[in-house]
Amino acid sequence: QAKAGGRNGWRRYEPGMGDRAAARRVMERDLRRALGAGGLALHYQPIFRVRGGALVGFEALLRWRLPDGRTVPPAEFIPLAEEIGLMPEVGAWVLKEACATAAGWPAHLTVAVNVSPTQLRSAAFLAGVETALAGSGLPASRLELEITETAILENRETARDLLGRLRALGTMLALDDFGTGYSSLSFVHSFPLTRIKIDRSFVRELSETPQSTAIVRAVVGLARGLGIAVTAEGVETEAQRRLLAEEADLDIQGFLTGRPMAAEHLGAFLDAPGGRAAAA
Ligand code: C2E
Ligand code: MG
Ligand code: MG
Ligand code: MG
Repeated sequence: QAKAGGRNGWRRYEPGMGDRAAARRVMERDLRRALGAGGLALHYQPIFRVRGGALVGFEALLRWRLPDGRTVPPAEFIPLAEEIGLMPEVGAWVLKEACATAAGWPAHLTVAVNVSPTQLRSAAFLAGVETALAGSGLPASRLELEITETAILENRETARDLLGRLRALGTMLALDDFGTGYSSLSFVHSFPLTRIKIDRSFVRELSETPQSTAIVRAVVGLARGLGIAVTAEGVETEAQRRLLAEEADLDIQGFLTGRPMAAEHLGAFLDAPGGRAAAA
């Protein structure tokens, strides 16, 4: 598998290329092919309870694998996929793949899937979620959809209704990258969210500025008041982990406790006690 058709074009994605429009067309063609030919893959990053270090689940993160073995990060091709109208199809593939993989994990583990603004706008999105759940047998409660504030704001009229329907289906709903947008505290409680993910820009400053600790504390307090969960993203240092553990028994995700890994490494990771010990 995974011979996504690239015969010659790959080098042309690199910067410094003469004809940007032509390079874009090549990339567009190759992305369409990759979608149909096993060229996309999901990597999974583990998420742990900060106190005690129990593994709680994984976030699925999209990768585009080039035939030469390199991978293109999502920030470099998702905008293109959005632009050329390929995102509903890519998103449907991600949902199916993530649910199918998660269905093979121990039953207490969840999978988080990122949802883009155009997906949220698509009339077919809800049905796509239902199809992915039904096809995999994964209980809806083990699927968490990660949505950004921007995506909600861009679809304000439909978002509340759609999010309500997704909750009714039983899926969890996380607000991703919290703190990077307009995020007012009232925003959070006007949508049926089950989790806030604190953006890594705040986590990075923990232990450096007292303000960032205050922000984390405020978010944790808000979440507790609303009865929803909190994840801190981008935890890279032991000092950050310790400060978070002092605040609350929230969930942590970051390079300190585990990098995103290819699906083929999950089996060994889940079998190894190191999966849990890493965060304990
Ligand atoms: P995100 O949802 O906020 O995902 C977390 C990103 O932070 C991931 O980057 C992850 O690899 C990275 N990360 C995790 N821990 C650390 C850390 O300790 N330090 C640092 N510096 N980074 C860390 P990635 O995989 O490149 O994804 C970037 C963004 O692309 C994601 O941000 C998400 O917005 C988007 N994305 C990824 N997969 C999908 C997908 O399947 N669908 C959609 N619509 N968007 C996706
Ligand atoms: Mg995310
Ligand atoms: Mg995030
Ligand atoms: Mg992000």
